[in-house]
Amino acid sequence: MCGIIGYIGTKLVKDILLDGLTRLEYRGYDSAGIAVLTPSGVEITRTVGKVSALKEAATQAADGHAGIGHTRWATHGGVTVPNAHPHRCGRVTLVHNGIIENFALLRERLARSGRFPLSETDTEIAAMLIDSLYDGDPAGAILGAARMIEGAFALVVLFEDRPERLYAIRRGSPLVALSNEDGAYVASDVTALLDHGRDYFVPPEDVLLVARREGIQLTDQAGNAVRPQMLRADWDYTAAQKAGYPHYMLKEIFEQPQALTRTILPRVREGIIQLEETAPVDDALKGARQLFIVACGTAMHAGLAAKTLMENMLRLPVEVDIASEFRYRDPIADAGTPVVLVSQSGETADTVAALRLARLKGAPVVAVVNVKGSTIARESDAVIYTHAGPEIAVASTKAFTVQLAALYMLTLHMARLRGALDQDRLREHAQALLTAPQLIQEALDRESQVREVADAVHRATDMFYIGRGLDVAMAQEGSLKLKEICYLHSEAYGAGELKHGTISLIEPGVPTFALATQREVYPKTLSNMREVRARGGTVIPIVTDGWEVEPGSYDYLLRVPGEGGVLAVFPLAAILQLLAYHCAVYRGLPVDQPRNLAKSVTVE
Ligand code: GLU
Repeated sequence: MCGIIGYIGTKLVKDILLDGLTRLEYRGYDSAGIAVLTPSGVEITRTVGKVSALKEAATQAADGHAGIGHTRWATHGGVTVPNAHPHRCGRVTLVHNGIIENFALLRERLARSGRFPLSETDTEIAAMLIDSLYDGDPAGAILGAARMIEGAFALVVLFEDRPERLYAIRRGSPLVALSNEDGAYVASDVTALLDHGRDYFVPPEDVLLVARREGIQLTDQAGNAVRPQMLRADWDYTAAQKAGYPHYMLKEIFEQPQALTRTILPRVREGIIQLEETAPVDDALKGARQLFIVACGTAMHAGLAAKTLMENMLRLPVEVDIASEFRYRDPIADAGTPVVLVSQSGETADTVAALRLARLKGAPVVAVVNVKGSTIARESDAVIYTHAGPEIAVASTKAFTVQLAALYMLTLHMARLRGALDQDRLREHAQALLTAPQLIQEALDRESQVREVADAVHRATDMFYIGRGLDVAMAQEGSLKLKEICYLHSEAYGAGELKHGTISLIEPGVPTFALATQREVYPKTLSNMREVRARGGTVIPIVTDGWEVEPGSYDYLLRVPGEGGVLAVFPLAAILQLLAYHCAVYRGLPVDQPRNLAKSVTVE
């Protein structure tokens, strides 16, 4: 959430900031702003709405060689120009990502010395605090403020009387930095910096970053120099562009076959799945009494699917929890209960907090993460990277299916460690998993059928998704996609559960999607679907190829390629994604930037 960019160097800064913000816009798009250090002082331009509005407003603004920019996802205070970043107080101008939890207390303290904010944000309090501590020593003021601030922050700070430096500090919120012969750059994520270099680093928490045109220095609270651990972005900016698709979401849906191949193929060795990356926790995985899977949103749905798979295959109890609950409920976790965290960005604030709690309790932590070098990747005992490439659309698609693949591979790896499956079965599973990219491609080839159904149902105000077994998790994910981008009320249920209350909501015309890809329960799901139809609901079974569906028992029918079972999650995911996508397009909605949402949820 929230995109930050900063630059100091020999080039003109305005375009660097505006281009960077355009690339970061998926992280927040309530309002945007830039501050440029000019010979006559800091000049700030801020607008409500998209970065395109800011670009227009900034055409007349002065340029310079140092500046900062921000695209906001509001947490404190409405979407207004006074609340937009950058915020200025005295000689201090800054941008912020995160939440300053004790901002009310700090505001009170500042008020006692006659300082009052102009905005409703927590961010302005940080600017005021740093200014109040500033006596000519920027490092002292920032580090002093950081000691007083509670919460999560990435701050990039300009001092009007120190035009040759840009300062930054972070705790909990993401920030990356790189330097080249033209100067030094900081940003919320590396996509914004790919035109300027590929070798970057993540400043450690609570370490002061000082950027000058000659390079970047890091110093800890005690004044010691800190050496950053360098990372390399292994994809270029074209991977983060739309490549002719009307929306990032559609492009990312269609990238799934390659993303799956990249994620699965390198892990098949000698015909079976072998995860070398979990070596540090293999003993714990082997001896585990129970497993936690902790995540948020779509990643949590991948966890729910994995629970069904793992419990089945490993006969090991798996508890799936949403990170924001896990972190506050004192979970019964210890060395015998490994915790698997799932996060596309690796920066999800609640999942980071769950990670730290798990480690505190002595639980071994395995992360399934897409972004290299992210906080969760760095702090976990072992990381299984998914190789989805950059995911820009707010609604997660390709990151979900590679998470499913990674968790499937973790299950097979554990089955080997624990002796739950013999070599032949392990081989069969690995061979089956290798067909996932092809299965998903076949589902994508059916886009026009899915679009027809979307056309038929997109005017509804409520929808239901039902399924059994693995299809329950998929129903939840399908329903979430619809809510996220279509602004449609929808709910997901185990198909057998409907008659215990929810069926009273079925009225003529309410669409219900019945997912039926699990052979042993598919007739049951279809019976539940008939119960809905008997009450006037519109029913759309989504059923594995070749499985019988009684003619006349449904309104529309969608077919899932393959033979059902575990592998069906891949093509089924693609069908549900396309359904939500085309509904949103028919409804004329901003698919890639749905209201109130933003990508990479770095606030609690
Ligand atoms: N809490 C700050 C605000 O509401 C920063 C939000 C963000 O990360 O965009 O302005």
